[in-house]
Amino acid sequence: MRKIAKIILHCSATREGQAFTAKDIDRWHRRQGFQMIGYHYVILLDGTVEIGRPEEKPGAHTYGHNANSIGICYIGGLDQDGKPCDTRTPQQRQAMKQLIADLLRKFPNATVHGHREFANKDCPCFDVASPDE
Ligand SMILES: [Zn+2]
Repeated sequence: MRKIAKIILHCSATREGQAFTAKDIDRWHRRQGFQMIGYHYVILLDGTVEIGRPEEKPGAHTYGHNANSIGICYIGGLDQDGKPCDTRTPQQRQAMKQLIADLLRKFPNATVHGHREFANKDCPCFDVASPDE
């Protein structure tokens, strides 16, 4: 297994209530020329966690930080007008918390970040330091 130093959170940058899945993102990313979906996990609106790229493989989600990280994406991140917004459903928040806890047990030295710490973007559209607000 590669060394995991970071868990990096993303949104799919799709509008609130639109029920996309890992399969959709896989299609979008392949169309962009990736081998397959760039994220390791996708959290659906109902809190279901879908597996994307296998953990052993480096992801394609955060420029310069893919080699030693796990990428998690929740579906949403834009309001009805297409503006950045924390659209996470209660089920997504719960699932995200659980998934991060599971990953931190597996990779105890990893730290948790939002994509926007590494890029000039709004992603994941919430403050990772205070995820419950
Ligand atoms: Zn992102």
